[in-house]
Amino acid sequence: MKSHTLQILIADDDEGDRKQIKRAILQSGMVAECTETSRMKDALAACDECEFDCAIVDYRLPGEDGLEGITALHERFPYLAIIMSTGQGDEMIAAEAMKRGAADYIVKHRITAITVRRAIENAIVNCSLQRKVIQQQHELENFARVLAHDLRGPAASIETFATRIGERLQEGNLEKALQAAGWVIQTAQRMNQLIETLYRYTTADAKVVFEAVDMNQALEEARANLHQLIQESGASITAEILPPVFGSAPQLIQLLQNLIANGVKYCDKPVARIHVSASSRLPFDSDEPSWLFSVADNGIGISKFEHTRIFEPFTRLTAKLNREGTGLGLATCKRLIERHGGTIWCESQPGSGTVFFFTLPAVHFDVDRIPEPETAEAA
Ligand code: ADP
Repeated sequence: MKSHTLQILIADDDEGDRKQIKRAILQSGMVAECTETSRMKDALAACDECEFDCAIVDYRLPGEDGLEGITALHERFPYLAIIMSTGQGDEMIAAEAMKRGAADYIVKHRITAITVRRAIENAIVNCSLQRKVIQQQHELENFARVLAHDLRGPAASIETFATRIGERLQEGNLEKALQAAGWVIQTAQRMNQLIETLYRYTTADAKVVFEAVDMNQALEEARANLHQLIQESGASITAEILPPVFGSAPQLIQLLQNLIANGVKYCDKPVARIHVSASSRLPFDSDEPSWLFSVADNGIGISKFEHTRIFEPFTRLTAKLNREGTGLGLATCKRLIERHGGTIWCESQPGSGTVFFFTLPAVHFDVDRIPEPETAEAA
């Protein structure tokens, strides 16, 4: 349950009933601010003004059909946790209200600090789950749409090249047929790369083993996996001594790999320089002790308007620069970090390089044993 002050709307024409609900809320120990209205029209207007966590709506508001009111409120504010307050024996109506979008109901004469708290907490949790499901549905639809588009391109190319091979063979032009066969192979390789990246993106949420992970070791493995890219580009990868974290080693290797590969790819300097560090353990009064890591590069930078967008699947700002990619690298990083309960963001300006920051849960161990950070060229 959120620890911020809950904003609760009470819509009831009876002042005594409003006071009773408010008193029960305050007695329940919840940190809440209550706004009162006596008509549905005013309740709708209040929701336009303020983002309420929960609305407790009387079924019998004068001159209004209570169920119509719930429908209107739910349609306008689909993520608002609505609780209908009913009289004794109105359970059938309550059931109908829940079909129309109410998350729960309370019977007025049984309102106590305990029942009101339970109803509010349940309603808020239900609504936030519903919100998540709807967001995931949208994400999935968007993902499927872009995916179909991105796979259709190479599939159509393969069809064209294969037709060309047939035509050239019929003409007896073996050289041209072989050239077209080369294009088929290249396109199929690109398609395979896309499918592989997609697989990594979609399995980022999979069940994995969480354990103490030596981030220095993870970095070494990421470097080894990028050996060819680093060798060919002559990039310099430096790192401080990194603290251990609680996470999934393969996922953290993938994360470092994606960020380092991007630092190398999106660089216009003669030598790409990437530096990995863990600057500070976050304050102990935050929910969980965690470490703040950074991966800094001297690359082309990213304009401030794109700092959030680059973490969305299939976003590519630099397609024109002819760098290979799928637009899933950072989206995968985001999912991996969120899977670990952390957050990831970047600070950057065009032309001034980029620093990616991310947080990861600390391993519970003696903090004093962590050596002071010292800069060292990673092996
Ligand atoms: P991809 O590299 O496959 O295009 P990513 O999701 O890894 O996809 O990155 C999304 C986009 O963000 C890239 O296309 C690029 O435009 C930009 N980007 C990512 N990392 C960097 C970086 N280190 N410096 C500059 N731009 C970057």
